[in-house]
Amino acid sequence: AVIPVSIADAPYEVRIEAGLISRAGENCRPFIRKDHVAIVTDENVAASWRDAVTASFAKVGLRTEWLVLPAGEGTKSWEHLASVVDWMLAREIERKDNVVALGGGVIGDLTGFAASMVKRGCGFIQIPTTLLAQVDSSVGGKTAINTPAGKNLVGAFHQPSLVLADPLALDTLPPRDTRAGYAEVVKYGLIDNAPFFEWCEANGARLLAGDSEARELAIASSVAAKARIVAADEKETAGIRALLNLGHTFGHALEAETGFSDRLLHGEGVALGMALAARFSARQGLMTSQDAQRVVAHLAAVGLPSKLIDLGLDCNGRRLADHMLHDKKMDAGTLPFLLMRGIGQTFLAKNVDLADVAAFLDEELSR
Ligand code: NAD
Ligand code: ZN
Repeated sequence: AVIPVSIADAPYEVRIEAGLISRAGENCRPFIRKDHVAIVTDENVAASWRDAVTASFAKVGLRTEWLVLPAGEGTKSWEHLASVVDWMLAREIERKDNVVALGGGVIGDLTGFAASMVKRGCGFIQIPTTLLAQVDSSVGGKTAINTPAGKNLVGAFHQPSLVLADPLALDTLPPRDTRAGYAEVVKYGLIDNAPFFEWCEANGARLLAGDSEARELAIASSVAAKARIVAADEKETAGIRALLNLGHTFGHALEAETGFSDRLLHGEGVALGMALAARFSARQGLMTSQDAQRVVAHLAAVGLPSKLIDLGLDCNGRRLADHMLHDKKMDAGTLPFLLMRGIGQTFLAKNVDLADVAAFLDEELSR
């Protein structure tokens, strides 16, 4: 599938197809202005995909130069940002040339941010290799690093020139990471597409077991949803792009409480966050408890965390609610919350009372 992202001054395509990573060379060729291409990746991705990507560029007469960074969230740092920028400058990347980001959200966010500042903004191509990056972070132009003050607090809006998503790239991804990325797929169904949530209920297990066709369809549906939302609200000013944060307010609080560690991956936090948003919506009388239960049941069925008690946290609702106050999405004292009127009917609730949230979380922590 080819999904256009219709951003006013820089439209681009997301191409989704099995085997695309081995055809990276021919797909990227028109975007490269020199006789070589600069590729940023991490050590895990390099171990699995460097040879195939090198060969595909060689086929179209392009030499590859590689910057292989350590894997993990710690790489989204000032230090690594400086090293990517300096490395690109040493390769004399021109403003109209493109650097390639081959990897998950960490490599995409870091390389995209570096590209946004080299020569006041050069091009970059995303070749996302995790499900999370394919369905979410590679599309939409948000780039960032982490600092001691928090995650993703320093960054830029900088859209890629092209995105190549290959479902076969996931063959080497650890199953836990694939499952975590799948939470963001389910999210698109819950936001505004009940039939897609039903598709997930019927096909999620097949997708996670490795079915390439199911993966391709899920990526294409997710990217189409994200492209539509981003085109309507590129810089998150109209309140539409905020819908993509479903499950993220609860999720970030849980990630903060578990120290942004392997104890809870981002997508796992989002899964639990969506389950909590559904249950809180039901408790507020917004959504039926049957619908909320369907959300929880599907997440549990595919092995994602869906009950707060499973995390074994040693804290109370107030403390989790306090983490939410520190979320950067907080707007002048009110806590905007994404709640549901039903499956596929997410809306931005203004002025949710934090005390109600804390009381709800206390119940969930002991249930
Ligand atoms: P990641 O990039 O750290 O990748 C997860 C792990 O999988 C890493 O160890 C990586 O080395 C490994 N890996 C990646 N692809 C592989 C492959 N094909 N085979 C084997 N191993 C592979 O994490 P992620 O989950 O992709 O991304 C998380 C990041 O994305 C976070 O920093 C988050 O803030 C960011 N993010 C950004 C946006 C956005 O809009 N820009 C949206 C959501 C998340
Ligand atoms: Zn997310």
